[in-house]
Amino acid sequence: MALKIIESCVNCWACEPLCPSQAIYEAKPHFLIDAKKCTECDGDYSDAQCASICPIEGAILDSFGAPVNPAGSLTGIPPEKMAEAMAELQAH
Ligand code: SF4
Ligand code: SF4
Repeated sequence: MALKIIESCVNCWACEPLCPSQAIYEAKPHFLIDAKKCTECDGDYSDAQCASICPIEGAILDSFGAPVNPAGSLTGIPPEKMAEAMAELQAH
């Protein structure tokens, strides 16, 4: 069981020092999690430290491939509202 960082990671470095298993490492083009080292923080913390600090919605997936911080969970903006706003911005 391991979490996964995907391409929307902005390389902010926030997660790397928090990992109790030293499973997160800098790579190109974005940070990665060593699946062999990631314990999902089991036994150390009640929640995944990387996902709890990550500022980017959707950048970290759980072992089922679902975002730990889904769209709207950090910004409080419902995904459909965000899509509307982006469409409006692009129209200008
Ligand atoms: S879930 Fe925990 S152990 Fe796994 S990468 Fe994130 S911080 Fe490290
Ligand atoms: S906290 Fe999130 S955005 Fe920042 S480096 Fe880690 S995965 Fe990437």
